[in-house]
Amino acid sequence: MRLVPAPAGSGIVFRRTDLDNFEIAATGRNVAKVSYATSLMRGSVLISTTEHLLSALIGYGIDNIIVEINNLEVPILDGSSLPYLQAFEQTGLKQQRRRREYMRVLKPIEVTDGSKFIGVYPGDGYEIDYTIDFPQPIGYEHLRVDLATGDYDRLIAPARTFGFKEDEAMLRNMGLIRGVSDESAIILSRTGVENGPLRFSDEFVRHKVLDLIGDLALAGKRIQGKVVAERAGHAMHTALVQRLLRDRSSWELVHGEIEAPAMERVPARLQPVTV
Ligand SMILES: [Zn+2]
Repeated sequence: MRLVPAPAGSGIVFRRTDLDNFEIAATGRNVAKVSYATSLMRGSVLISTTEHLLSALIGYGIDNIIVEINNLEVPILDGSSLPYLQAFEQTGLKQQRRRREYMRVLKPIEVTDGSKFIGVYPGDGYEIDYTIDFPQPIGYEHLRVDLATGDYDRLIAPARTFGFKEDEAMLRNMGLIRGVSDESAIILSRTGVENGPLRFSDEFVRHKVLDLIGDLALAGKRIQGKVVAERAGHAMHTALVQRLLRDRSSWELVHGEIEAPAMERVPARLQPVTV
């Protein structure tokens, strides 16, 4: 995979270099299927496991980029978005001469599925309030962060994905987690963490916030509002994006102020992310 600067206003676009540079834009309109990961599809071409890279791009402040990839699955790396941030840090960012657009939420949009819930509400920053309630050993965790003022790099990016040991064979059979190992996920058994220590005592909910940020990137614009999620996952996250995109009266586009954080950004030079 290689991340290449793109012109202002072009957004995030995946390019399959193994399929004649076929392009798939990172938008909710291209969401294909969601179970253990979020996949995009255009025509019959797939890009799977997009959420950690998209989360890193939003968290680090990158708006326009071409993601060249010679495979259908985005590299899992260590299961978090930290390695991407480290690559961006080495590369540096360039401001583009165009004000960033935000999707400012005007009215509540809510999606419910049994005990799963997600909603987005008007608000000044980009606040996320996430609650999970998994079987043991995870249990109940809650986190609230404001990403407009908060510290994505420190609080969210290092949190790794997780899975139960007994699900691993099933996931492999489904063609997922091609790259997973002890080094690329927190592996759980019913009694505890198999490959500790955790990076945070509440690493699980932090990773869910990481996933949510990546999935909401599919709105195509940075969100200004408050998101509340309870027991949600990729299917709920992307359902919310699709509801937002469909209901044009629920948000308006506003421009950022002309100051550093509100300018669109791309990586400053080509920098392969090697895996
Ligand atoms: Zn994840």
